[in-house]
Order: sequence, then structure tokens, then C-alpha cells
Amino acid sequence: MALLVQKFGGTSVGTIERIEAVADKVISYKDQGNSMVIVVSAMSGETNRLVELAQQIDPRARGRELDVLLTTGEQVTIALLAMALEKRGYPARSYTGGQVKITTDSAHNKARIKSIDHERITSDLDNGRIVVVAGFQGVDEYDNITTLGRGGSDTTGVALAAALKADECQIFTDVDGVYTTDPRVEPEARRLETITFEEMLEMASLGSKVLQIRAVEFAQKYEVPLRVLSSFGEGEGTLITTEYDADKTMEQALISGIAFNRDEAQLTINGVSDTPGVAYRILGPISEANIEVDMILQNVSADGTTDFTFTVHRNDFDTALASLESTAKELNARVVSGNNRIVKISIVGVGMRSHAGIASRMFEILAKEGINILMISTSEIKISVVVDEKYLELGVRALHEGFELTKLS
Ligand code: ADP
Ligand code: ASP
Ligand code: MG
Repeated sequence: MALLVQKFGGTSVGTIERIEAVADKVISYKDQGNSMVIVVSAMSGETNRLVELAQQIDPRARGRELDVLLTTGEQVTIALLAMALEKRGYPARSYTGGQVKITTDSAHNKARIKSIDHERITSDLDNGRIVVVAGFQGVDEYDNITTLGRGGSDTTGVALAAALKADECQIFTDVDGVYTTDPRVEPEARRLETITFEEMLEMASLGSKVLQIRAVEFAQKYEVPLRVLSSFGEGEGTLITTEYDADKTMEQALISGIAFNRDEAQLTINGVSDTPGVAYRILGPISEANIEVDMILQNVSADGTTDFTFTVHRNDFDTALASLESTAKELNARVVSGNNRIVKISIVGVGMRSHAGIASRMFEILAKEGINILMISTSEIKISVVVDEKYLELGVRALHEGFELTKLS
């Protein structure tokens, strides 16, 4: 008998029929003698609907009250799933994050889980009940309701699995595992049987939203066995592993996957004097405005001046551009320009460590398609390029084919 934490995402609980189907699935595991803790997201589209309602009151709505609003989405699905289980004769209890109790810091809209007091869950499990917990939410030390950032139900699942020392955390979603790239963009994408935490972390942080980054970080830190699998079918899904399977790698591709991020925007300031402190004067105000900077590029200076380019989240583009324009006046820079029609495409793979020439192969593949590269950044196991957004699909597919990700089994 195992203890399983299963998380079902928005599409998986998107209608009453689907909630009923989730109940049947959960029961099939329960009937095998497992103890079951279920985490659910809000019905698909619900969190977006709530955000839009808030924005009708205040376009920049955020903070405490937004969290109070957004957590209602998950409160609906826990109750409906618990009812569906009870109707089938299986005792179940639904709980909000605050009830179980998932304590977070006070960073509203992007709170981090600090601790979980799982006494109530354990006693329900001991009494044979199925426990259903609302994903994406917690309470801070003053009992204010918090949320864990978009996609945060994954993190609730992993954190509960860690706290309960579950045998596995299973993330059920609308695809049957982690693929070489988003199957919605490349239908030829292939499901991976395993992927290392290190690679999964890169994929998630470079834009593959199949798992929330924090969930992957958490699972790696607390050694939670983590699997992604389909809500709608059978199958083993994809296991996220600690070990890099060297035997398998012999036959495996040099890269494991391709990630992309459509949420990028690029800003450039030209002709700033190349003196100490300039980077700080440009980026200091950006960080003070709470804007995260992703890639940064500074040109080699010519005539004592240099150009500075960086990328931010598209939502922050206008604020970042305004900040840069005022910095430009102070620094007597020549021009400020921005482009919010760019995307980032990245190739990821631990195989890169032992193979040279992967970057040039990537650039060659893109060149053959006539795709101009605007920025490049590399780390040990990834290479990212920024390109015009119109090249996203073409670039992803060309790289997928060029690195022979389809063929391998
Ligand atoms: P849920 O609502 O279940 O949390 P998400 O929409 O957050 O589901 O995540 C699943 C989606 O992630 C898939 O429908 C797919 O389009 C997308 N995705 C992006 N990259 C990948 C990838 N490499 N493998 C599988 N799915 C991916
Ligand atoms: N409902 C939340 C969202 O849409 C959390 C989640 O689904 O993981 O982001
Ligand atoms: Mg998700």
C-alpha cells in the first residue's frame, strides 16, 4: 500500500463530467489499497476569469485582495470532487490551503510555502478518507490568504508529497507526460520516459509550463518522486529523475528538449559611456520597479561608448521602457529602443556537457530557415536565442527535426 499525492490541473477538472471522471480515476487507485491525497486546480479558464473581473475594478489589481478572489476557483473544485467521491460511496474531505494547514510567507500573488501542518490530513487518511486539497493557496502567519503564483497547484502537490513523505507525487494533466517540446507547437514531439530534475528545471524556467518551476525545485530539494501523466488515458507518463542515465544517453539525443517563451520583450539603450557603474545605473531603476531582467548583453565599446540590451517579461515592457527613457536622459545616451514582438527559444540537455559544437549546429539550423538571431545566451546545459515572434513555430520545428528529436524512441 502506497501513499499517493495526485494533482489534477484545470483542464482535467474543467467540466462536471471531467470531475466525475477524476473521481473514478482516484477511486481506481484507492481500490488498489493506496492512501490518496488529491490536489486540484480551478476549472480551466476560471483563474483567468477572476483576474479579468479584478482588472475591471483596477487594471493593476494585485496583492491581498486579488489572492482572496483567486483562491475561490480552487474552493469550487475541491467541494465538487469531494461530492463526486462521496456519491460513489468513498468518504472524502475537502480542505482549503489554510485549513490543512499550508503556511506561506506574505508575498501575495507569489508566496512561498514555509511549512505544512499535516495532522488533519494524516488523521483523515488513517480513517480511510480520501483527502482533497485546494491547490495554489495557503495562508501567511497572520492567516491572510495567499497564492503561490500561476501554475502553483503543482507546487502544492509536491509540497504535500514532501510533507507526507508520499511514495510518489503524480501530476495529471492534459498531455500524457513531458515531451521533447510542447506538442501543441510540434505535433511530432515525443514523450520522454524520464527527464532529469536538472533538465526539467531548465525546461520549466525557459518557458515549458507543463510544471511550475517551484514545483520542480521543491521536488528536487526534498527528493520527491515526481511523475507527469495523463488525466484522460492510461500510461506511465514521464518520471523526473535525479540520476542521469548514462546507458540510455548513449542512444539518446544530445539535447532532451526544446523550450520557448512567448512572454519576452527586449530593450536597448545605445551610446552610453563605457564607464564603471553604467550597468547599475541602467538596471538599478528597473529592479527598483520590481521588474525581473532575464538576458543581458553589453557590446564591446567603441569610441568609449557602448550599447546595452536586456529582456524583461512582456507585461513589464511599458514600465521598463519608460524607466529606460528617463535613465537615457540622465546618461546622455543616443537612443532607446524596444521590441515586444520577440520570443526566446532554448535547447536543453545534459548531453551538451560532453559534446562540442551543439551551439553552431543550432545556429546553422536556424540560418537555413532564414531566422535571424537577435540575442544568444548559454549555460552548461542550455542554449537560448531570441528571435522575432513570427519565427517561433518554424524555429521550434526546425530545431526539433535538426536535432533528430522525433526519431529516437
Ligand atoms: P494543467 O492545467 O494541468 O496544470 P498546463 O496547461 O499548466 O496544465 O500544462 C500542460 C500543458 O503544458 C500542455 O497542454 C502543453 O501544451 C504544455 N507544454 C509545454 N511544454 C511542454 C512539454 N515539453 N511537454 C508537455 N507539455 C508541454
Ligand atoms: N488555478 C491556478 C492557475 O490557473 C493554479 C493552477 O492551475 O496551478 O494558475
Ligand atoms: Mg499547470
